[in-house]
Amino acid sequence: MKIDNHAAWIEIDCAQFRQNLTLIRQYIGKETKLCLPVKANAYGHGLKELGPIAENLIDYFGISCLREGIALRHVNIKKPILLFGAIDEEQIEQAIIHDLDITLSSLYKAQLVHAKAASLNKKCLVQIEVETGMQRTGIRIDSLPELIDFVVQSPYLSLKGIYSHFATADQAEDSQTHVQLQRFDSIVKHYRPLFKDVIFHIANSGGMAYYPQSHYNMVRPGILVYGYLPCLSNPILSQIKPFFTLKARITFFKVVQANQGISYNHQYRTASQTRIVTIPIGYGDGYRRALSNKADVLIHGKRYPVAGIICMDQFMVDIGQDNAYVGDEVVLIGTQGTQTITLQEIADKCDTITYEILCGLNDRLVRKYLNS
Ligand SMILES: *Cc1c(COP(=O)(O)O)cnc(C)c1O
Repeated sequence: MKIDNHAAWIEIDCAQFRQNLTLIRQYIGKETKLCLPVKANAYGHGLKELGPIAENLIDYFGISCLREGIALRHVNIKKPILLFGAIDEEQIEQAIIHDLDITLSSLYKAQLVHAKAASLNKKCLVQIEVETGMQRTGIRIDSLPELIDFVVQSPYLSLKGIYSHFATADQAEDSQTHVQLQRFDSIVKHYRPLFKDVIFHIANSGGMAYYPQSHYNMVRPGILVYGYLPCLSNPILSQIKPFFTLKARITFFKVVQANQGISYNHQYRTASQTRIVTIPIGYGDGYRRALSNKADVLIHGKRYPVAGIICMDQFMVDIGQDNAYVGDEVVLIGTQGTQTITLQEIADKCDTITYEILCGLNDRLVRKYLNS
């Protein structure tokens, strides 16, 4: 076993990833650009690995911090990269050097970026984010004209896009989303005739799937690309699947007598003599402690319950009178045989959303890329 091979790992099926991107392309059509959000290590799937695989299938990458943009450039990504969110003043120079599209949400920041670009004598690519209802970043609509004027007059700023972000588009037919769409639409109607090459975009996964009128010039689906936007009646989008499996190998087997406490605080007690196996993954890897006594795992295609508290690096499973031994493969999220443990099931048991579980699986877990 190689030194970096922890006995718990993530398998990524690159062929399914490419398939998901191809399906989205087919759904949005040729005229609409596709931006792939790869923030937070590509939703836990591996930024440096998925970036090069995706590059020829998409038009833009979306990231949330400078470090992620530099990481993409270091693996030789040439496509445009949009830095979502507000940039730190000290990071402007590196963003310009690495040709990242900086998001501007204020005149003040625009002036700083202009000054830095002038001092480097290099044009800075920028996109303007406008506030339509998320109340996160984004310039107020009434201040937008002043910011746009400044950007188009600066010889050091190149306006690539004007965009916004939905707050509630994960629900179809949501009235707040329609309010945001109306506000954005009036901006598009006003500015598109003036700026032919500027891209207008607002759609995240929910927007793209449930509000076709929100596609404009580009869509930015994240969670959908990774395979986790359920209840899709669309015949193309419904073919999108997860391409990630969380696995481990059993590291210990024992027989435990009746009425014994298992793991910290003895919250699980054996009803009768049973077989207990130990799995080498815990909350220190991102397999959350909230799953204690709640989650199931798959061994030999069958579900078994987590027995007791999840430790930092390990937990136990009660396999009753069944057989499973050291080295056998365990699926924690994904499919084995005919059984599946979905990410949604795990997220529900942690009282959170799929995104948070994905992002929480850290780099102690080696990612193995299949069909790459
Ligand atoms: C994260 C993010 C997205 C993608 O959101 P999903 O819900 O995963 O589709 C799109 N746009 C911006 C600005 C984001 O921050």
